[in-house]
Amino acid sequence: MSEASLNYFKTDLRSLEFTLFEQYRVQELFDHPYFSHMSKDEVTAIMEQCYRFCTEVLGPLNHSADRKGCVLENGQVRAPEGFRAAWKKLYELGIPNFAVSMELGGFQGPFSVHVALQEMLSAANCSFNMYSGLTYGALELVGEFALEKDKQKFLEPMLTGRFAGTMCLSEPHAGSDVGALTTRAVRVEGNKYKIYGTKCWISAGDHDLAENIVHMVLARVEGAPQGTKGISLFIVPKYKVNDDGSIGERNDVTTASIEHKLGINASATAVLNFGEEDNCEGFLVGDTENVGMKHMFRMMNGARITVGLQGLAVAGTAYLNALAYARERLQGSSVKAFKDPDAPRVAIIEHSDVRRMLLEMKSKVEGMRGLVVKLAKHVDLSVAYRHEGKHDEADYHQGQVDLLTPIVKAYCSDQAFRVCELAVQTYGGAGYVKDHPVEQYLRDAKIFSIYEGTNHIQALDLVVRKLRGRSGRDLSDFAGNLTEFVQKHSNDPAVGPEVVALGAAAQKMQDAGQSIIQYMMQSKLDQLTLFCSPFLEVMSNITVAHILLEAAVLAEEARTQDDRQSQAEFDFYAGRVASARFFANFMLPQAVATCRTIKSGDRSALDIPDRGFSTVW
Ligand SMILES: Cc1cc2nc3c(=O)[nH]c(=O)nc-3n(C[C@H](O)[C@H](O)[C@H](O)COP(=O)(O)OP(=O)(O)OC[C@H]3O[C@@H](n4cnc5c(N)ncnc54)[C@H](O)[C@@H]3O)c2cc1C
Repeated sequence: MSEASLNYFKTDLRSLEFTLFEQYRVQELFDHPYFSHMSKDEVTAIMEQCYRFCTEVLGPLNHSADRKGCVLENGQVRAPEGFRAAWKKLYELGIPNFAVSMELGGFQGPFSVHVALQEMLSAANCSFNMYSGLTYGALELVGEFALEKDKQKFLEPMLTGRFAGTMCLSEPHAGSDVGALTTRAVRVEGNKYKIYGTKCWISAGDHDLAENIVHMVLARVEGAPQGTKGISLFIVPKYKVNDDGSIGERNDVTTASIEHKLGINASATAVLNFGEEDNCEGFLVGDTENVGMKHMFRMMNGARITVGLQGLAVAGTAYLNALAYARERLQGSSVKAFKDPDAPRVAIIEHSDVRRMLLEMKSKVEGMRGLVVKLAKHVDLSVAYRHEGKHDEADYHQGQVDLLTPIVKAYCSDQAFRVCELAVQTYGGAGYVKDHPVEQYLRDAKIFSIYEGTNHIQALDLVVRKLRGRSGRDLSDFAGNLTEFVQKHSNDPAVGPEVVALGAAAQKMQDAGQSIIQYMMQSKLDQLTLFCSPFLEVMSNITVAHILLEAAVLAEEARTQDDRQSQAEFDFYAGRVASARFFANFMLPQAVATCRTIKSGDRSALDIPDRGFSTVW
């Protein structure tokens, strides 16, 4: 097979269907007026279409694009071969706009289905999917906050893929510390400004997939306060756009360089210079300066969910490739035949330790998928109830979205790397060399815990802001749902002991949470921030255990009640029960141990003298 046609994309459609339609009953959304124009059949059809696109177009480009990367020539970035045709096809199919509201020109489908489509696209080709993912985020931002005249100019071409989008926050000295940015804006007239500055590491910062690129740029208007309070948001197109919508002269935005990096090689990561020739035109989003961070958070929250999704997607395909390899690779004989020197060689899937690794990967992938769809369904219900004027219900669901967003971002991105590492381990040496796909997945996955706010930034967001959301009601609603589940299913014939263990772990988490509150009240801020990441880890593990056990209860019911089902269906459901049990017995105890660490208040990382890390400087 030629390099160009290697296709390693794998996805588990049965598992996706289970999560969408059996566990989260996404079809019930169609009873709400906001989604009533859609049906389950329609959703199934678009998922099949997306699957075909991933199998026939995106998957075969992933390997070769990783090897070739992007090229910057004469100030213009070229995306890898095949991407332009794939981009055109993607927008002909309309998949990026599935969840965009009808008001903005989209299909207004459920976000819960959008995430399933995105899982397939990123599993097939994570780098490619970043270009359209950023366009989707920029489109929503313009659609929600821009002035009408700017919506007229930019929305339609972003819907059709004529224009792409980016998000420009980072600068060389301002990464996590966005408030330190120095990009400047000087007002010309109306909402038109001149922009000056340099942004670094801008994903999809330049390419040749679309006619134009709409950069969403954070900058400080001259005289505005320092820090995040003085930041405004601007639309800065690569080419100026005339009033009739046609493309005008080149704007003063230049690509200084693109990065050579560990993974996602086919996603151009650019350094962009604005206003070197004093001719960079930008348009304030909305009519108020200094509210840029609030507006940008619309895109950032979406992007955080998308990054969690990338983790799920890449981990999912890595797991399925490792599983396929484990079914074929013959090595050693069965441990049960240890006395027989003539025992036949077996596939490595028969070895206990390989089964352990496979089940860890499976349970984490299923847990991530459940987590992402759970959050997405809360998004849908929040929108649907708001549309019906039921604001209390909408607020409840929005509160759960807020609480779960840092968990989705951080858990899925951290675990994606762990799952990919286990996939490499399952392959043995074959996983480390470039003849198989898992080394690329491992390299691609590392960035997920870094960009879009490092995972520590997510942990700070969870502990310092989200746990206190709606005066603590979001957290108590979350805990109430968990307690109700534990009370109802503690005697479940399949997973009763694991449900009891979940309840005990949740109690420990509450105790650990009390310790964190103490650190806060005693102004021990160094200790508070020390334990934010461990606390996020605990809460993620407990949430995922809850989701997996809930799925296991449903699976066990389906397995035992329907005697007409095929062996494959029977095994599928048995697999769901096994992965929940495994997670509760192998992973959940780690959360309990971490709770002990948080309560201990250990200060060694804080009190060690800087030179104590090493006397080597
Ligand atoms: C491939 C790639 C694509 C990217 N795409 C984009 C993009 O499209 N748009 C964009 O704007 N940016 C993008 N970025 C930038 C990315 O968002 C930043 O790298 C990220 O926000 C972290 O900033 P930093 O790299 O400057 O790390 P730093 O902020 O220097 O952080 C270094 C370490 O210190 C920790 N740290 C920093 N501050 C604190 C603190 N206050 N408390 C505790 N710990 C702290 C961090 O958690 C991290 O572990 C991209 C980066 C890469 C590598």
